[in-house]
Amino acid sequence: MKSSVTSEDLRELFLLRRVPEELALEVLSGCPVLELKSGQMLLRAGQSNQKLYIILSGSLSVHLDSPERDSVARLEAGESVGELSVIDDSPATAFVVANSHSRILEVDESAFWELVSSSHDFACNMLQLLAERLRSSDDAITRNIRLRRRFERDALLDALTGLKNRRWIDERLPRIMDRHRRNGLPLSIIMFDVDLFKKYNDTYGHDAGDCVLASVARTTLECLRPTDLSARYGGEEFVVILAGLPLEVAWKVAERLRVTISDADVISNDGGLLPPVTVSMGIAQAGPEDDAASLLKRADSAMYRAKDSGRDRSCMQEAGG
Ligand code: GH3
Ligand code: MG
Ligand code: MG
Repeated sequence: MKSSVTSEDLRELFLLRRVPEELALEVLSGCPVLELKSGQMLLRAGQSNQKLYIILSGSLSVHLDSPERDSVARLEAGESVGELSVIDDSPATAFVVANSHSRILEVDESAFWELVSSSHDFACNMLQLLAERLRSSDDAITRNIRLRRRFERDALLDALTGLKNRRWIDERLPRIMDRHRRNGLPLSIIMFDVDLFKKYNDTYGHDAGDCVLASVARTTLECLRPTDLSARYGGEEFVVILAGLPLEVAWKVAERLRVTISDADVISNDGGLLPPVTVSMGIAQAGPEDDAASLLKRADSAMYRAKDSGRDRSCMQEAGG
């Protein structure tokens, strides 16, 4: 349904601020006013559009991929849509749908350009509106970049312990090994696993088990230097990268960490005290031929020797290995 515009309709419009009323009425009186029912579509993404639409009453919602998807913006009375399409002759980039019964002034290209050329104020209002659009899309881009960085960071962290996760080890250990090899520096790793953890879970409950893992992670961070890198490698298995340390020194660090973990109280979620756990550790130093997988495997074999010989101990990689 179409009707025509009145001077009352034009009075409060931002785009017509300081534009003489006679000029606005003269140019716009020939422009139709569309009466949209709730849910009716005004613009379809991809469709060509050479019109500026000004909302006189009601409101419109903007949807990106499909009109069924949640809206990304809501435009209220006084706001407009379609100005970019008129300026650069591009198709609509979104679906625009009426939220409720809405009256929309449809300004065609020739009326638009006539207003631009005959009213400096209209042109300034238009520039200001475009500047606001640009700024809010810049803000959205910045927000997206921040969000993406957070997702990327979270994807490399273990949620329960806050330590780095296995993906981090898989991505970074090869690079760290390369750097140390190039610089002629030693590099050792510790792989350790909580002893008889299944029994601990069975006895005290899974939540208590989770507290153990968080506690082991905390103790590990407190016990080591900030430059040592700790990760939760799997369920109750941890890896520590000791940059710059040869095997014998790494073994001493591992022993100190093992004893500290076995002495540390575990605090339950309700503040009670849970028994400590012990861990078994395997230590390996990167050799010239190693890649990350072979180094991790040697540490893992050493850790299983620690398990096999009674747990709660640290074993180095076998001589010559
Ligand atoms: P071992 O000394 O030989 O390592 O024995 P274990 O019982 O520790 O080893 P096993 O591999 O048999 O059991 C590991 C247990 O760790 C089983 C699994 O339910 C538990 N587990 C793995 N991830 C989590 C976790 O995120 N939270 C809790 N509470 N338990 C976990
Ligand atoms: Mg275990
Ligand atoms: Mg295990």
